[in-house]
Amino acid sequence: MNYRIGEVLLTEEKISRRVREMALEIAETYKGQDLMVIGILKGAVIFMSDLVRSVSPDVRISMDFMAVSSYGDSTKTSGIVRIVKDLDCSVKDKNVLIVEDIVDTGLTLSYLVKLMQEREPKSVRVCALLDKEERRQVPVKVDFRGFSIPDRFVVGYGLDYSGQWRNLPSIYLVEQEN
Ligand code: 5GP
Repeated sequence: MNYRIGEVLLTEEKISRRVREMALEIAETYKGQDLMVIGILKGAVIFMSDLVRSVSPDVRISMDFMAVSSYGDSTKTSGIVRIVKDLDCSVKDKNVLIVEDIVDTGLTLSYLVKLMQEREPKSVRVCALLDKEERRQVPVKVDFRGFSIPDRFVVGYGLDYSGQWRNLPSIYLVEQEN
């Protein structure tokens, strides 16, 4: 099956405005505190780099990354979460903010939140650019949410299809080619 980029769902301008609003919410929550921002590779990289640059310096940010595999090459979740790359730093007694590109079934994030909590941080919160709420299989508290979106597969702004299209500045629906 071949796929192509379809309609734009969220433009570059709309994303950028919302990311700046989210950064304000984050700055308000963590004002005067240290914050370890944990990006989930690779999808969250572009979102995270815009987000942290918009958070005021009142928050002392450090960054780390984790890679998990849950999807392989298809557009359907396998339900299996495997750590491919763990954090370099300890989260003990730290404020942790997990940054994800999209929450779908919630399996990845619920696993990651549980894993972080076992490491005894001061706090754990979740920030996700996109949320397909109607697809949820397990409950996850999303503390900072960019956009709720319908149950359609999307690419761009960090999100890929088979490793492609992460670099698109806007977010697009994917369509099947006739
Ligand atoms: P969950 O564990 O919540 O089902 O899946 C979250 C992960 O699924 C995301 O980090 C992302 O990698 C992938 N995912 C879910 N929906 C989409 C989508 O519409 N587009 C892309 N590119 N990835 C998605």
